[in-house]
Amino acid sequence: MAGTPQLTDPAWAYAPAPESAAIISIAPEYGLFIDGRMRPAADGRQFTTINPATEEPLARVARAGQADVDAAVAAATAAFERVWRPMPGAERAKYLYRIARIVQERAREFAVLESLDNGKPIRESRDVDVPLAAAHFFYYAGWADKLEHAGFGPAPRPLGVAGQVIPWNFPLLMAAWKLAPALAAGNTCVLKPAETTPLTALLLAEVCQQAGLPPGVVNVLTGAGATGAALVAHPGVRKVAFTGSTQVGKQIAAAVAGTPKKLTLELGGKAANIVFDDAPLDQAIEGIVNGIFFNQGHVCCAGSRLLVQESAADVVLDRLRRRLATLRLGDPLDKNTDIGAINSREQLTKIRELSDAGEAEGAQRWSPPCQLPERGFWFAPTIFTGVSQSHRIAREEIFGPVLSVLTFRTPAEAVAKANNTPYGLSAGVWTDKGSRILWLAQRLRAGVVWANTFNKFDPASPFGGYRESGYGREGGRHGLAAYLDA
Ligand code: NDP
Repeated sequence: MAGTPQLTDPAWAYAPAPESAAIISIAPEYGLFIDGRMRPAADGRQFTTINPATEEPLARVARAGQADVDAAVAAATAAFERVWRPMPGAERAKYLYRIARIVQERAREFAVLESLDNGKPIRESRDVDVPLAAAHFFYYAGWADKLEHAGFGPAPRPLGVAGQVIPWNFPLLMAAWKLAPALAAGNTCVLKPAETTPLTALLLAEVCQQAGLPPGVVNVLTGAGATGAALVAHPGVRKVAFTGSTQVGKQIAAAVAGTPKKLTLELGGKAANIVFDDAPLDQAIEGIVNGIFFNQGHVCCAGSRLLVQESAADVVLDRLRRRLATLRLGDPLDKNTDIGAINSREQLTKIRELSDAGEAEGAQRWSPPCQLPERGFWFAPTIFTGVSQSHRIAREEIFGPVLSVLTFRTPAEAVAKANNTPYGLSAGVWTDKGSRILWLAQRLRAGVVWANTFNKFDPASPFGGYRESGYGREGGRHGLAAYLDA
């Protein structure tokens, strides 16, 4: 209507509301956290971590080599035998509670640092990553003295040293997902954060020091893939936990095969978010946006395939386009920002390549008017319609803010299309009918099925996949099983 102000009108624009970065002082150099103290890599090698929103360097970080992996595993083994395993669970719990409390107390530091190093909006690091990380430590602290009641027999035992390799999409949160259950169960840890996002894991190491955690119980080795591979291959490691790409997950499964090491893999996904024509559409639109544009779509369980019932497709797409036009892309430290920076140039190249393939294969591409900053790594929120199941954008994990839209007519067709993927991590169902939700949940081959919501996480709830999405569960009582010899 003429004269009606649109949300995109400059007159209605938000004033910038940047979170101050002054809360955090980033050191020019960081070492490895081994045996309770920071030290340089044995061979002195380093790499630079940058701010993906500006491409400015943030810090030089030690690159761990084989000698450092040996030292960290030796420290973790000694701490396991001398201190952590013999310690009563109630005492271990106190350390975990302490870590949880300090993460809460230093939440702003963690949130700012995560947004600087990863590129995610401060609203997400502040409201999702950091509170959930603290919640994981609180939750597993509660299990530390109750392991004999967790359903794994009367006297479950810890395994020993856990080698844990994590990705860049939720750096602090994945560290918490790995460390909290391992420590609660009585294991010691060597954690390898991703090369592009080492800083919050190093701040967490500082928190471990602050909490008085005995030296060697947690060790953090920064480095690249070779550091992760050396950790996974180390004979002193009894348990390997990995979150990342399916390709590297397969390499790790091959490296661990034939050894006594226990393995859990949390890999990629290509989740279907299924919207029926009787769904509460306003909520469904928010769920679709949250499903694929949260964290720039760098989410293993992202709802990257929208399956919308044909009878509702026009109205859903119309509303979705209008909603996308209100998303704000830009400075990750601005509290108004919805879409931050892509984490790395490599990831941006991958997103561009797959999106170009979508167009080349005949799908229709749409993005709202959106000005991308000149420096840094950015990709506008994008929708593809007219997608067929054979298109690469319907089959491959894009891991970016790109939604592929397909339609269906019947519930059976929705299930067939949703399951037509080698992955099996998550799915979403939007409908008014409870019976239909249950019918679909029984048939969708996914580790997690959300109903009338999406991307909902709770430390008490197990999470994990099937098939090429990996195996094992993290979170909840189930998450303890991976760290116990039961
Ligand atoms: P990777 O799987 O390569 O990285 C995950 C972690 O594993 C990082 O810490 C990485 O180190 C480390 N690593 C790499 N190679 C090895 C190895 N051979 N042995 C042991 N550890 C290793 O993911 P990428 O960062 O390369 O991302 C590639 C794609 O993977 C993305 O485009 C996305 O599709 C998918 N992905 C999925 C994630 C998920 O949660 N399911 C998370 C991240 C990515 P380093 O970072 O230093 O290379």
